[in-house]
Amino acid sequence: MKVLALAGGVGGAKLCLGLARVLGADDLRIVVNTGDDEEFYGLHVSPDLDTVMYTLAGMSNPDTGWGIAGESFATLHSLGRLGMDTWFGLGDQDMATHIVRSQMLRQGKTLSEVTSRLCLSLDIAHPVAPMTDDRVRTTVVTDRGPMPFQTYFVKMRCEPVVTELRFEGAQSAAMSPALRQSLDSSDMLIVCPSNPYLSIAPMLAVPRARAAIESFAGVKIAVSPIVGGQALRGPAAKLLSELGEDVSCVGVARQYVGLCDVFVIDQIDAHLSPDIRALGMRPLVTNTVMETEADKIELARRILDATIDA
Ligand code: GDP
Ligand code: CA
Repeated sequence: MKVLALAGGVGGAKLCLGLARVLGADDLRIVVNTGDDEEFYGLHVSPDLDTVMYTLAGMSNPDTGWGIAGESFATLHSLGRLGMDTWFGLGDQDMATHIVRSQMLRQGKTLSEVTSRLCLSLDIAHPVAPMTDDRVRTTVVTDRGPMPFQTYFVKMRCEPVVTELRFEGAQSAAMSPALRQSLDSSDMLIVCPSNPYLSIAPMLAVPRARAAIESFAGVKIAVSPIVGGQALRGPAAKLLSELGEDVSCVGVARQYVGLCDVFVIDQIDAHLSPDIRALGMRPLVTNTVMETEADKIELARRILDATIDA
């Protein structure tokens, strides 16, 4: 069975690791949000791609879910002494990824080519690709004005009240070859438990991506990142509230109407199953909190066993 997984950063990477433990490299393709990408010191940083890659490579920091385990920050410290802004935490080893990526992009390689090459170097078997090779940047419109995503997320710690999200460049972007081809040829589409507004919406904003998902021939399954009315981390719950949605798995499901046949909710939310069904989706109730690797594998198996009308 060929599976396409759409992922953001930490939540997406957790499920991708479970899927990668169950599926062979020929049967899983992972396509990742690039709306969070940003340049620092002339380096192209792709935070969500890096989180997925480091997780699959077994290098990620278990405490944060992002960055590299045992990382040091000597370069960042030196940059600060030289008068540079250092609010975005780039570790010394992590910096090497961004140096290689930036050099290859400057040499004319696409972000897809660069990502494949990085995966090869990191011994990642399963193909990982960006959603697009074109420049898309999420702008967060807030009560303190519009700001680039990383300014909102890291520098301002998600404190401003969000009124709108814009995906600059998305309208003229093209789906990456991996996204286009796997939407055509996969048997199952999995929307990982990623932030619907910040990680999945940028992909849907790329022309023809939403329509291709709507008309996707196989089973379409999404997993709620909201469990018991709360995000396990990050601003998903705050955004649902600020954008006028229910702060629950139902509010997330409403973002995926027409894009999803089966919606996976946590057992703590089992009582909301009728609300999911009312949106035209089949609820699949299971443990969705992935603490251990066994949790990730178990959730992956439950999802892979799902069919539209089981
Ligand atoms: P980001 O780019 O690093 O913010 O990562 P994603 O967008 O991929 O994931 C963020 C979402 O993952 C948050 O809304 C979390 O609530 C959710 N999340 C994190 N860990 C888990 C988990 O173990 N289970 C579920 N269901 N959601 C999770
Ligand atoms: Ca992200």
